[in-house]
Amino acid sequence: MTCFLSILSTATAYPCQNKHLSAAFWLILLIPVSCFTFYSLVPPGDLIGLQLASERGDLRMTESNSPKSAKKPRWTSLEICLITIVSLLFIIIIALIILFATQKTGLCRLSAHAASRLIENMDASMDPCDDFYQYACGGWLKKNIIPETSSRYSTFDILRDELEVILKVVGEATALTKAKTLYKSCTNERKSAHRGGGPLLDMLPDVFEWPIAVNEWETNYGKSWRLEDVIAKLNEKYGTQLLVNFFVGSDDKDSNSHIIHFDQQTSLGLLSRDYYTCTGPYAEACQAYEQFMIDLAKLIRTDRGLDINETFIQQEVARVMALESEIANATDTPEDRNNPVLLYNKMELGDLNANFTLEVDSQQFDWSYFTAKIMNTVNISVSDTEKVINYSPNYYRRLNLLLSRYTKRDLQNYLVWRFAMNMVVGLSRAYRDTRKAFRKALSGTTSEAAVWRQCAVYVNNNMDNAVGRLYVQEAFSEKSKELMIKDIREVFISNLDDLTWMDALTKKAAEEKARAIRERIGYSDNILNDEYLNNEYKDLAYSAEEYFENILQNLEYMQKRRLRKLRVKVNKEEWVTGAAVVNAFYSSSKNQIVFPAGILQPPFFSKGQTKSLNYGGIGMVIGHEITHGFDDNGRNYDKDGDLKDWWTPDSTHRFLELSKCIVNQYSNFSWDLANGLHLNGNNTLGENIADNGGIRQAYQAYQNYIRVHGKEPPLPGINLSHDQLFFLNFAQIWCGTMRPEQAINSIKINVHSPGNFRVLGTLQNFPEFAKAFKCSKGGYMVPENTCRVW
Ligand SMILES: [Zn+2]
Repeated sequence: MTCFLSILSTATAYPCQNKHLSAAFWLILLIPVSCFTFYSLVPPGDLIGLQLASERGDLRMTESNSPKSAKKPRWTSLEICLITIVSLLFIIIIALIILFATQKTGLCRLSAHAASRLIENMDASMDPCDDFYQYACGGWLKKNIIPETSSRYSTFDILRDELEVILKVVGEATALTKAKTLYKSCTNERKSAHRGGGPLLDMLPDVFEWPIAVNEWETNYGKSWRLEDVIAKLNEKYGTQLLVNFFVGSDDKDSNSHIIHFDQQTSLGLLSRDYYTCTGPYAEACQAYEQFMIDLAKLIRTDRGLDINETFIQQEVARVMALESEIANATDTPEDRNNPVLLYNKMELGDLNANFTLEVDSQQFDWSYFTAKIMNTVNISVSDTEKVINYSPNYYRRLNLLLSRYTKRDLQNYLVWRFAMNMVVGLSRAYRDTRKAFRKALSGTTSEAAVWRQCAVYVNNNMDNAVGRLYVQEAFSEKSKELMIKDIREVFISNLDDLTWMDALTKKAAEEKARAIRERIGYSDNILNDEYLNNEYKDLAYSAEEYFENILQNLEYMQKRRLRKLRVKVNKEEWVTGAAVVNAFYSSSKNQIVFPAGILQPPFFSKGQTKSLNYGGIGMVIGHEITHGFDDNGRNYDKDGDLKDWWTPDSTHRFLELSKCIVNQYSNFSWDLANGLHLNGNNTLGENIADNGGIRQAYQAYQNYIRVHGKEPPLPGINLSHDQLFFLNFAQIWCGTMRPEQAINSIKINVHSPGNFRVLGTLQNFPEFAKAFKCSKGGYMVPENTCRVW
């Protein structure tokens, strides 16, 4: 019956079906045959007669020994041959009709689905020339409210939620037992409740304890305490980088090699340095942060049977707050870190001892001892002549000044707090609830997402290839890999000719870089290989009863894997993401664009969706990722992924001028959801350049497509041209909203502009949009001054 219903409903609801009605009609007649063996809806035709005859023939053979066997027809070999040919022809013709009919109706069903989605999400009563975002997403905004458990809700979030549902299903399947065990341990709430805070209390001595939560720390730990030991331990064993941010990564100027990096502390308890002013919109978050620390310290002391001195705990917490806000102030601002050329300070490890003193309680920080301590855990020895990159010399100078105002105890209190605050997720409800008010202050959410959902995300983040394998197996069609990357890359290259601001020499290098971009679509073939997959996880052994320990195991495993790379060549073929991810990526050191299986679905892309929607969806995403290779950051890397200037000074100068236009345009946007705060045009510059390039390239590639393949037939049920649909689908990808707390935090830390401004900013700059919707100049969507880089 399902076959019937889908055909009939689409045929009656949408005029596109009329044209193919005869085919559909034939299909209705024939479906009983193909869908359900036999149905007497239609009189048996020759086909059925022949089928039955052949069946009878078989029977006759088996029954040939029967004394009651019927009279055998005496057919000549010519007759048999003719009957065979006729029957074969019939089968082929019928198969072709079914194929034809299902393809057309399949397409039409998808179109109908797409049209109803587009219509539901939009608000056609709005003037597209006044505010295209409201026009495209007004319906979506009316229809969707942010779930209690989320800080934001958008097209992306919905797709991710759906993906998590798939993971829930496959997480419980029999395949890949390790992922399943990890998932089970995470969802095992009864066990977590039973274990209380035990697992955390047991491991705290390993990181030299949390002074606030024990008695006599000075006697038991303080005397032999060294800053190097605790930072090294948190780093190598628990993957937590604090104060001195040490990591192994590819060398910007030699992207085939790995090298040791020293950077400033990039992760702050309160997310961004602005929060530490603790006034205005940040007051509540500050207060909740301190309370979180107090509550956790009290809970641990209670569980340990220790006394609780409220005043003392508050004093300790206040010192930790003061220390962290000084650390936050010592960091370079994101604006100071935009230029990768300025960040790159190569030196020898020994130079750090000579030039960057860090002193705590009259003890000097020994950079060589610290580095050796970490690298010894993966059996790599490092001498003082080892080359290292110091991304933030100024931070280390400022850090030393502030350290003089704090004691060992303060530092230890701070370091272990920052570790423990992230570990409560693996504990009982009482522990998890200590951060409830803090989470609310930062993101506005009043309750946690369902446990199974959190666990699906956790398993995907930690075993991305295992989960990717399951996702691809269960929910991905190979056809979704046929993307139009080539078309869009060609448009990027041919557009270089039109750019008057760039000279020929730089254009040539830009073309070479664009041609050298490696593309990755869907998933790495490795994940389909059992041996490869088993080998990747061979050192991991999870217990379904011990989620906390599993978390620790993952932290250590991932960190050791990163550290071990120091003496290994960079594998540029390696995927930078798992497959079950609704996102897309560009890697400047690999010069690679990636479109994981998770994003290759509607509204972004579908083989059956009209091309205008595909180009406005995944087409724009492809253009966006390509353009990242040429944004304010990516442009500093050459075709091989090395940090190397391939620009003439003149072209650089003009690029910076044009970028300024984009910085100003986006900085002028004030966001109502974030209390009227303005966007940070500098921090979002790279993404905005990529969005602006992406929409232009995708649009032009679609025009090229039409030129070659002819115009697409109108999308039934929606009275818009395909050019208009292109822009509508693009805009609807960014439908979404946020809680005010999350909006403020997003302006501070997100390098992407909020969805609505991604739509408004790009379309204001793109004249083809105004043409498609006949918007007149001077209106909101068609400002006098526009910006263009690529
Ligand atoms: Zn981007």
